[in-house]
Amino acid sequence: MSMVHRIVILGATGSLGTQTLEILKNFPDCFRLTGISAHQHLKKLKKIAKEWRCEKYGMTHVENLIDSSTDHLMVLDHGLESLAAVLKALAMKKRVSIANKELMVVHGEEIVYLANECQAELIPLDSEHNAIFQCLRGEDPGSVQRLILTASGGPFRERKWEDLKNVTPEEVLKHPTWKMGAKTTVDSATLVNKAFEIIEAHHLFSVPYDRIEVRLHPESIVHAIVEFRDGTSKLIAYPPDMRFSLGYALFYPERAPSNLADSMTETVSWDKPLIFEKIEKGRFPCFDLVLETAKHQPHKLSNLLKQDQQAVENFLNNHIPFMTIFESLKIS
Ligand code: MG
Repeated sequence: MSMVHRIVILGATGSLGTQTLEILKNFPDCFRLTGISAHQHLKKLKKIAKEWRCEKYGMTHVENLIDSSTDHLMVLDHGLESLAAVLKALAMKKRVSIANKELMVVHGEEIVYLANECQAELIPLDSEHNAIFQCLRGEDPGSVQRLILTASGGPFRERKWEDLKNVTPEEVLKHPTWKMGAKTTVDSATLVNKAFEIIEAHHLFSVPYDRIEVRLHPESIVHAIVEFRDGTSKLIAYPPDMRFSLGYALFYPERAPSNLADSMTETVSWDKPLIFEKIEKGRFPCFDLVLETAKHQPHKLSNLLKQDQQAVENFLNNHIPFMTIFESLKIS
């Protein structure tokens, strides 16, 4: 890249923040970290700010981290508090990359509208949406017939919901393919995460719910498939490692170089058969519930998100059994 990109990261201390810093470290001539935030872990935040000589850091009023010199806002945190920062950056025509699912589920429509109005670059980081974004480059959005998101199915893909009564947080946190934060890992086991992703895809790509599908794909190699009107499908594949989409957003519109991060050596082998399995209704009750709410009572989604957040926290602290997450979502 020809000039130094000035980056602001919201959620710098989390799993995605750490992975982004790993990439930035390898390209000191391309990027400068100018602002960081975190919702907790102030000590770690201060340490990063010192190490990277960050001009600004904070835990509240994070929109103040962005100014006219910012090039790229990376939203890698959880929750709805970063909305003001996202809207400010888009209004200033800054590139905004988003991994924050809650924000896209609740405010996706508004965010996408503003990005279009201001002609700002909005790049989804979640692997599925990033894959769709890549598939759609150079295509007419109106020619999309169907979107297919893949799901690993989490650690319990081969078990029935009724058999999950006694699973522990430790078992749930052992995700077979992805390395993610605890909340997202639990949401992946219930497939709540995938339902959120359908909502996110609906907003991002303006495709109606009845033309967005999910396939269980335990290898997590193919992240999404876009089927076009003419019967042609495009798919994007890369190993299950978020640094691929993080690197894509950092170097966009160019392809990222090969030495993205020191520990990234894997590529897709294509030697083994890949599975794409349909999800039967009722197999993942939390998934069905979130999706039905999105389709018929979208105003209830923000409350549902809160219930899920609380239920996952309670489960991780051993206060409720795994299956009670569903009961908690039902009452929202
Ligand atoms: Mg995902």
